[in-house]
Amino acid sequence: MARTRASDAASAALRKARRAWRLLLVDAPEALAQAESALHAAQHSDDRGAQAWALLARGVHGLHYATPAEAEQDLRQALALCGGLGERAGELLATVGLARVALREGQVERALAMLRPLRDEGLAVLRRDQRGMMLNAIAGCHSAQGDSERAFAYLYEALRGSGPARGNGFDIVVYCNLSHELVQIGDHDEALAQVERGLERCRDLRTPRLRSVLLINRVICLTELERADEALASVREVAAMPLGARGRGAAMLHFEAMAVAALRAGATTLGAELLERARAQEAAPLADERVELAVAQALLARARGDAVGGLDALRTVVELVDGAGDDSASLRVRCLHARVASELRETLGEPLAALHDMRRWQRLNALRARLASRARYQAAALQTELLELRHRLEENDARRRATERARAELAAANAQLSQRMAQIESLQAALREQATHDALTGLGNRRLLGDALPPLVALALRERWPLAVALIDLDHFKAVNDAHGHDAGDRVLAAFGRLLGERLRASDKAFRYGGEEFCVLLPHTHAADAAVMLEELLAQWRSQVFALDVGTLRALTFSAGVADTGEGQRVPTALLKAADARLLAAKRVGRACVVVRTPAAPTVTVAAATAATEPAAPSALRP
Ligand code: GH3
Ligand code: MG
Ligand code: MG
Repeated sequence: MARTRASDAASAALRKARRAWRLLLVDAPEALAQAESALHAAQHSDDRGAQAWALLARGVHGLHYATPAEAEQDLRQALALCGGLGERAGELLATVGLARVALREGQVERALAMLRPLRDEGLAVLRRDQRGMMLNAIAGCHSAQGDSERAFAYLYEALRGSGPARGNGFDIVVYCNLSHELVQIGDHDEALAQVERGLERCRDLRTPRLRSVLLINRVICLTELERADEALASVREVAAMPLGARGRGAAMLHFEAMAVAALRAGATTLGAELLERARAQEAAPLADERVELAVAQALLARARGDAVGGLDALRTVVELVDGAGDDSASLRVRCLHARVASELRETLGEPLAALHDMRRWQRLNALRARLASRARYQAAALQTELLELRHRLEENDARRRATERARAELAAANAQLSQRMAQIESLQAALREQATHDALTGLGNRRLLGDALPPLVALALRERWPLAVALIDLDHFKAVNDAHGHDAGDRVLAAFGRLLGERLRASDKAFRYGGEEFCVLLPHTHAADAAVMLEELLAQWRSQVFALDVGTLRALTFSAGVADTGEGQRVPTALLKAADARLLAAKRVGRACVVVRTPAAPTVTVAAATAATEPAAPSALRP
């Protein structure tokens, strides 16, 4: 039992850890929460697999949102755990994460040395977005080396199979890196277009880090395009974003790049403030960050009328802009440095020195253009692929919406249809009722009698039990109508129908045969017994009193003729005919009686004797 519970908890922890991994680029805060909750549960149940994946997810989250040292700690633990468990994919991913830590610390060669041996195995072992993460890290190394061509090639590879629908948000990373790389080769307009696409994709996701990176790329593009004033809104947005795990992270904050933009836009106070924040950063700055910091300082000094101080600031990073290798700055910031240096020389009235820096800027730009022409092919291919993915995403979306719409329409049509069917069914039932029943009395009509009688006769004959058939005709009914009106006649008819319903056994059946005539079928009953029942009914009918608008109506009678199957009538019509003949006989002998013998020698029952001698209309109007 205890074992089962422990392993259940373990699998729940593992599920959480995997969920954290999937959410890394979709909902970063939730990814962290899931990873920590998974870690807690995994430690509790000593589930090493879940622990490894939770640490891996938190470590990769940390690459963006924590300090490199914190990320490194999680990733190293994940690496050790995965190694112990033989989780090769986890080991590879932890190593990729550690290479990114090295890259963040400016150790490009070391990072590449870690990644190179994994590449082929990673392609075989890792799944979609995991593979993308590895290839993206390799791209980052080449980018840091200024090898845009290779960077594009790897980004291109990273993107394949990591479409928006299945890549867990990985395509946004590609937009970030693609725009970054396009900036490196000086394709600022194109970079800006990628930034806007990335920002649009970010809209539905909670990835403040990726959004901030895209916004910073936008700021850099606009600054390079001499449209720094348009970048101020983005600068302010990023500057206002909280840092750390709940904001845009703790690493690569780019305050210096934003300071340059603000100062280029003439926003000196904002620039100075951003510069302060850049200086206050704890992590050791990368070469690019140091050069941008110096440029921002130079621009601030110039804005305050101290061009000489500005040049001094630029001089502090000369070895980074002149050198080559791991610790040299990118072409972009070297261009920036040369250009600002030239501007400062010009301000100081030193045209020759200004020209010298301008030439340096020109040489760097030419180099940038050469690299760009080779990289551009890869960039174009990548952009085409991204566009295709976007289209597919939109198509999927449209299809999903169309399906949902169609489903809703179908459901509405179905509801309407079933409502209509219910209506039709109840209409049909009403029609059936109308066709077989009499509306006034609620009894079956003659048609229903025609259907019911033959099988009942057949059954009675086969089973040898008697079936009595009685025909009842209200006496002097015309007089009721004539004296009290048709409505009063209707009331009397309905009352007689009710009386039949109350009096008869459940197995007996009553029908309205026509006008004021009724037919009653009594299974398992001889005519004589039926006559007894009818006499009682006659007495009851006679005792009914109808209160009318004017006066009352009482002492109503009926005449009845009864036959049964025991007399040799084997055909339903013959039975009815015999009953009808006896009814006629009852009328003839004076009404208000029940006749059960043939008309030749009619037997008039006792109950009717008095009425038989008194054939007058029974309706008595007593005002
Ligand atoms: P008898 O005793 O000989 O049967 O006399 P009667 O007046 O009952 O017989 P007759 O056949 O002369 O008249 C039957 C009357 O029943 C005529 C008709 O208007 C009336 N009637 C038939 N159907 C209805 C009905 O649905 N409602 C009303 N109010 N009267 C009806
Ligand atoms: Mg009649
Ligand atoms: Mg009658």
